[in-house]
Amino acid sequence: MAGFNLMRSFLIPQLKPNKPVKSAKCLSTSSCLSGSDWVGSHPLFKHRQVVDGVFWIRERYFETSWNAANIFFIKGRDRDLLIDTGVGIFSLPQFLKSSGLREDEVKPLSVVCTHLHFDHTGGAHQFEAVDIHQIEAGFLRNGNNFMMASWVTPKEVSPKPSSEWNASNYSVKPPQLVVGIEDGHVYDLGDRQFKVIHLPGHSPGSISVHDEQNGVIATSDTLYQTDGELIDWYPGSNATHMLQSVNRLLELNLGGSVSCVLPGHNDVLDKVEAEEAARMYIEAHGTPRIIKKAFSRARATVVSKAHSVLSMPEFTREWMNS
Ligand SMILES: [Zn+2]
Ligand SMILES: [Zn+2]
Repeated sequence: MAGFNLMRSFLIPQLKPNKPVKSAKCLSTSSCLSGSDWVGSHPLFKHRQVVDGVFWIRERYFETSWNAANIFFIKGRDRDLLIDTGVGIFSLPQFLKSSGLREDEVKPLSVVCTHLHFDHTGGAHQFEAVDIHQIEAGFLRNGNNFMMASWVTPKEVSPKPSSEWNASNYSVKPPQLVVGIEDGHVYDLGDRQFKVIHLPGHSPGSISVHDEQNGVIATSDTLYQTDGELIDWYPGSNATHMLQSVNRLLELNLGGSVSCVLPGHNDVLDKVEAEEAARMYIEAHGTPRIIKKAFSRARATVVSKAHSVLSMPEFTREWMNS
């Protein structure tokens, strides 16, 4: 069985990449969290305030998944900004309304996906228009599930939308309108601005959005706290670019323009925690890891390709993700 498992572990990509931190830090002691607790009365989503006007949303129905990603909602004076859209199996717009986060449906809303992976773009089709870096806009428009690494298992989704719902049919649906944006694009919310920073590496069009005046930055999957490793080996990843991007974030942080980091996965970070996560990645960027990643990259490419063209039976998917 050991040999069998070894072969399986080679063939199956590590689909639990965003390993949460098991240390005490996992308890969200970040000084960025303004003392608020989770509002958990909704059965499918929960949210809490991070700092003034910044809200952190989680999809409760996908929370057991290691791919569960963060969604952030910024309430501006004249316009709201939604950063990422989750896996998108249930309606995020309905939650924004019913939770009171966005009662005024006429108020302008910008929706931006920090990169193309399914855990960030899955809900994009629920909105009238979404922005994404122009390098990745075509993949999202065409529903390229290979590049978006679309993958959910029945176990990860609870409750399910219906008894007929089948994980093997999950894919990222092309949104109605995808707008390509570039480095330097600014979201002006009236009382605050978020500037787009292109940070390739995790994916070719990964971005951060940075509110310099208030010291808030959303780093997506370029930087988050993990006991595993930051991912620079997916299809479309580039480890050299990732290293440059993490260094760029570190420079921004050390430059004093960041006090609160909104990562793609796991907990919200303060300046010190973010610096530590960045340094861990940079220090681990040695030759043995590069060799290890070459295997991970090959494995992820083969299996993602297979899943993008084959409809896998559910029991197979459960087994592969176990
Ligand atoms: Zn990603
Ligand atoms: Zn992610």
